[in-house]
Amino acid sequence: MTIRENLCPDSKYKTKCPYTMAPIGVCIHNTANDATAKNEVSYMLGNGNKVSYHYAVDDKEIVHAIPDNRNAWHAGDGGKGTGNRKYISIEICYSKSGGARFEKAMDNAAWLTAKLLRDHGWGIANVKKHQDFSGKYCPHRILDDYGWDYFLNLVRAELGQAPESTEDTTPLLLYGYTGEAVKRLQTILNTQGFDLEVDGSFGPATLAAVKAFQENNGLDPDGKVGPLTWGKLLNAAPATASGFASYLVRVTAAVLNVRKGPGTGYGISTTIRKGEVYTIVDAQGGWGKLKSGAGWINLAYTARK
Ligand SMILES: [Zn+2]
Repeated sequence: MTIRENLCPDSKYKTKCPYTMAPIGVCIHNTANDATAKNEVSYMLGNGNKVSYHYAVDDKEIVHAIPDNRNAWHAGDGGKGTGNRKYISIEICYSKSGGARFEKAMDNAAWLTAKLLRDHGWGIANVKKHQDFSGKYCPHRILDDYGWDYFLNLVRAELGQAPESTEDTTPLLLYGYTGEAVKRLQTILNTQGFDLEVDGSFGPATLAAVKAFQENNGLDPDGKVGPLTWGKLLNAAPATASGFASYLVRVTAAVLNVRKGPGTGYGISTTIRKGEVYTIVDAQGGWGKLKSGAGWINLAYTARK
């Protein structure tokens, strides 16, 4: 991730960042808008309002607008407020609509937050939200759809720290995590045709299953179990031996082998092509059985319809 500089001109310091600052932490915001980081910053620097912030982050880039050693007007706690005078502010874009691009922007903001923590020798306790300073319900999208702990756990992950346990039954789960929530994840994945050991350890097999599940469900196959993936998992129809809920898939690979059994160890019976749609009537270990009886296909190379 790179940081692009579009810094406030000196002529605007009087309005946007009048005081020098020795920062003591990072303050997180949501824009409540659907503009890119580039556009947020050009709007902010171009207008004559006092409102300002240090960084805007979207799904593609980070734009730096106010130098970190000057104050910005973001926290709503007044001219002498700790938020306004002591904190480096980050605006996360696309919070109005939320969804996948907001989630990516949030990941990028977690990366930036972790970088600032490392650069200044700070810890997770130095990360605050706008709400902490003025009571404003900001960062609204994080609070509504993810929970503040979720964001802090993203930052901890960037720092290589273990997540803090929360009461949340669907917390952020990443490769390497362990615990009850991972067991729950593995149990649900097994209802979807995977064959994982329910050991509560997010290892390579679980990671591969998560990626295949994400790919099959039209999600970014990043192996990270966040709210979008949990949502699909919890809504997925249970696939039991007695009553498998058949569903349609579209082939996403150019050519896909149909095998006589659920695995690459079985012989190839035929091939199918990209864009073709098939009904899956059973699943096992990430492989799906075709209704036609022709055999089994690797579901990682299909998208669920
Ligand atoms: Zn805010």
